[in-house]
Amino acid sequence: MARAKKKNLAKKRSSPAGRIAREQQSVAPEPNRLLKVWRRVLERRLRTRLRAPVAVEVHDNTHTMLTFQRHRALWRLRLHHMFLAAPDEVIHALADYVRTGDAQASVLLDKFIERNKAYIRRVSPAQMRKRLRMEPVGQHHDLGRIFERLNERYFRGRIDAAITFGPAPRVTRPRKSIKMGSYSADSRVIRIHPALDQPVVPRYFVEWIVFHEMLHHVYRTRRGEDGRRCIHPPEFLEHEKRFHDYSRAQAWEMENLDLLLRARVSA
Ligand SMILES: [Zn+2]
Repeated sequence: MARAKKKNLAKKRSSPAGRIAREQQSVAPEPNRLLKVWRRVLERRLRTRLRAPVAVEVHDNTHTMLTFQRHRALWRLRLHHMFLAAPDEVIHALADYVRTGDAQASVLLDKFIERNKAYIRRVSPAQMRKRLRMEPVGQHHDLGRIFERLNERYFRGRIDAAITFGPAPRVTRPRKSIKMGSYSADSRVIRIHPALDQPVVPRYFVEWIVFHEMLHHVYRTRRGEDGRRCIHPPEFLEHEKRFHDYSRAQAWEMENLDLLLRARVSA
């Protein structure tokens, strides 16, 4: 098959049409440059609408199409490439959504994403996981074992996800907040903050955090009645209470959050 393709190409090159194609190729912009130009255009369009500086990063994610953060006056947006050539109404919705979490804008964005889903790459969670460094066994807590036990006990072994300690954070000074766990629907990977891998952190507390992230696998983010995204819908929170050490874990967190915030984690 590959050989046949090559042959065709060689034939074409000797013809005048082939020469024209080759000349055109030599002036065609590189894909990266083209992307840069489109990204700048998108930044400019958003800047006009948001009346603030905007920095856009374009990605090829398979689940999370858009995230944003504000750093003082600057809006930082991470967007799927489908937004590069989005029509004005979508750009306006994007700006409204980022600025005020506008429910109508959110619905419009969802529709746009749905219409463009053909551009979303299909990657299996297993393929995504191959690129991650999985470290489920800590010095004090074995996340793999915790996960397996919870899976058997609460989910009949049906949770098809992987688990690992997250990488050591780059900032080592005391934190103001800590994200103890996360779940990525893209890779189906649960990440647990390495600060939890300390002898003073009781096993039931780590279990509780893992249990919470497992529930994210069961209850996907959905839209509430007010149109806003609901990460922890009521049924999620109800289910969470079934954890055997629920109140004990909550009490431990109240007492010891400071300890977790100050934990020094080395890579
Ligand atoms: Zn959560």
